[in-house]
Amino acid sequence: MNLGRTVNINPSSSQFVIYSSLIITLVFNYPFISKVYESVQPNTLWEWVFFISIPILLTLINILFVSVFGAVFFPRITVAFTFLVCVFLFYASVVYGVIFDSSMLQNIVETNSGEAFSYLNISFVLFFILLGMIPVFAVLNQEIKGGFTSRIKKLLLINLVALLGIILIAGLFYKSYAAVGRNNKGLIKHIIPYAFYDAGYKYLRDTYFYPPLPYRVLDKHPVINDFKPMQPRTLVIVVGETARADKFGSNGYYRNTTPNLQRLGAVSFNNVTSCGTATAVSVPCMFSRLPRKQYDSRIASSQDNVLDIIHRAGTAVTWIDNNSSCKGVCSRIDTVAFDPHRDPTLCDGDFCLDEILVNQLNRTLKEYSSSNRVVVLHMIGSHGPTYYRRYPESYGRYQPDCPRSDIQNCTAQTLNNTYDNTIAYTDYVLGKVIGLLANVPNSAMLYISDHGESLGEKGLYLHGFPYKLAPDEQTHVPMVYWDSNLGNTAYKRCVAQRVDNPYSQDNLYDTLLGLTAVNSVTYQANLDIFSPCKI
Ligand SMILES: [Zn+2]
Repeated sequence: MNLGRTVNINPSSSQFVIYSSLIITLVFNYPFISKVYESVQPNTLWEWVFFISIPILLTLINILFVSVFGAVFFPRITVAFTFLVCVFLFYASVVYGVIFDSSMLQNIVETNSGEAFSYLNISFVLFFILLGMIPVFAVLNQEIKGGFTSRIKKLLLINLVALLGIILIAGLFYKSYAAVGRNNKGLIKHIIPYAFYDAGYKYLRDTYFYPPLPYRVLDKHPVINDFKPMQPRTLVIVVGETARADKFGSNGYYRNTTPNLQRLGAVSFNNVTSCGTATAVSVPCMFSRLPRKQYDSRIASSQDNVLDIIHRAGTAVTWIDNNSSCKGVCSRIDTVAFDPHRDPTLCDGDFCLDEILVNQLNRTLKEYSSSNRVVVLHMIGSHGPTYYRRYPESYGRYQPDCPRSDIQNCTAQTLNNTYDNTIAYTDYVLGKVIGLLANVPNSAMLYISDHGESLGEKGLYLHGFPYKLAPDEQTHVPMVYWDSNLGNTAYKRCVAQRVDNPYSQDNLYDTLLGLTAVNSVTYQANLDIFSPCKI
């Protein structure tokens, strides 16, 4: 049976464009329209008329869009392609509450195949067949009536009507549109597929069309100061992944998810915020001199980051990756790249468990004889949606967990159990790191997560929400510090006094310079968390 023939209505060119535009508005933009409804809350007749004008306006814009982008020559292919793009965006929006802006897009482009395939599950396949394949087959099987000239005439007419309609609605409701837009800045990002096309355009422009910036050396001659007693000679920086501050037992979570960190005397900073809500933003940003508010990936990638400065000063710096990549941060330093085939006991071909970082750290610590060294461990941490693949079965402490990737179908309890298991496993790995460092005199570990995660709160899942609109769950990150010098009572007291202070990833650059005793013209002591504690 041919699915398309069963709904073959042989439309004219204008009918075809109108029907397609209505489907884009009423089906694929259902999340946008319902968000508008929440924002407008129409009561009076005028408010209702305004609210109803919004889907009409969107349909008219769709008519122009579908026409301009090929409906004249390739109507069916244009509409089928648009539907396919829409169904992906619609799924992400309805199921995970994800919005596509340019940083989200960057995050997707820079993801690896293991991560990308983890979204493939039976819910997505069903969704894709029902709202993607069936409509697309139906579209491709339509015979559009009329010869070329009559099709053009009809299209011109419908576009003229659409244009007049847009002018009429804009004239009548201009003030209301401006007010709703001003008060709900994120609303426009929900429009499918235009927000995605706009983000795509910006991403391509910034990545491929802007000429590359000349590389800027921020400090030609950083030097290592004489070490003060409280400055570690070996520093391990652990970049966490998708860990939420409120899920750490050491930050007061009702479950003790961090027994190892607490037993080993690590200090937990409980009021730290991230730079972005996605790896591709947060990781380069946290090592960059640029503060969050001025962060620009193009500038950050073409100038020194703090690891470059520390390296230039004469410290051995190594980046060990168990995530997709270091997002450009390790371009100029020694790197042990992510390899999902590194170890058959800890890797499954797509991912490796984070314990692999401990083994590699052990090797690196033995290799380097330099008196000053920094090792960065980049974890896979709590990366979703396949949280259950972040910890070995024996580490599934909270049960029942939810061993599936379509996490929206887990109950809140099982989803939180799974996620809490990833935190408990992170605690186990950090405990192992500290265990290694306990044998290295004058050493320290600083752990900070790149961003948090939504686990169904406010209808949102995963991360990557536009920063200004993002909930705390995505921006409030754990930061943990362990130092062999915490045995010094005065130092420990000074550090402990700072755990409730509001810090952010903007503090990392100077804190790392301070910890590694690097004297640089780029250093700002007021941002160094531990500068008042150095004796
Ligand atoms: Zn991340």
